[in-house]
Amino acid sequence: MKDNRFMKVIRDADEKGIAVGAVNIVNYLTTDAAVTAAKELGVNLIIQTSAGTVEHFGARKLYDMIDGIRKDAGITVAIHLDHCRKTELGKECVDAGWDAVMMDFSHLPLEENIARTKEVADYAHERGVAIEGEIGVIYGVEDEIAADQEVKAGYDETVEFIKGSDIDVVAPAIGTAHGVYKGVPKLDFDLVERLGKDDTPIVIHGGSGLSAETFRKLIKLGGRKVNISTLVKNAYLGKIRELVESGEKYAPIPFDDQVFDAVKAEIKKHLAVFAGIKDSFD
Ligand SMILES: [Zn+2]
Repeated sequence: MKDNRFMKVIRDADEKGIAVGAVNIVNYLTTDAAVTAAKELGVNLIIQTSAGTVEHFGARKLYDMIDGIRKDAGITVAIHLDHCRKTELGKECVDAGWDAVMMDFSHLPLEENIARTKEVADYAHERGVAIEGEIGVIYGVEDEIAADQEVKAGYDETVEFIKGSDIDVVAPAIGTAHGVYKGVPKLDFDLVERLGKDDTPIVIHGGSGLSAETFRKLIKLGGRKVNISTLVKNAYLGKIRELVESGEKYAPIPFDDQVFDAVKAEIKKHLAVFAGIKDSFD
């Protein structure tokens, strides 16, 4: 895979021993908040869209919106499709200009996961687009994809998956979960450490709610892309709820400005830890 924008931000993070933040957005405001947060820190960024968000806006419209925001940011911003189980939708995003797509057939038997991921990998690579695949099942709900049982990935099958599917970055299930944690998760740091010594960069899913210390450890062992989704949505909805319940009357733009500031602050404190600029979220 030759360097496109997605591989550039991953390789850049790898050289620096840091991780690039991959932020799930839902609209213009959250995209603008993420790009502004990265810009203020001077770090690169991945903007992620769930399959449901692409279907909601339409690929072309969504691409144009994100591309318009990233254009003059002065940092490298890659556009990525998160957890997609629909081959046609993955290909549609490749055609619409996404820098990378994640196909998630992790719920299928290994051979089928390999074959179905490889089909999109070939399509993407021919068009200069990168691909992420998932092995093992990450617990929780991400967009419309729900897993009620977690299956951790093993080292050997992860290596077999990477080779067979021809993916550029790998998301192994290491015990992180989508959504909000109840208690402290037991993570498979050994798997991250072993995979971290290989060539394929590792993606950490289920980043919302992990401690700064856990992030630093995962990044030190080789995590190069860290996904945050739930905490972005919570910051967005939480601020809206707070403003509405305050009973104050706001005009739309000052209202949005306050929501924007809250979302930006939440994203920024995470990006700062992923980039090694700060040690904690304080
Ligand atoms: Zn995920």
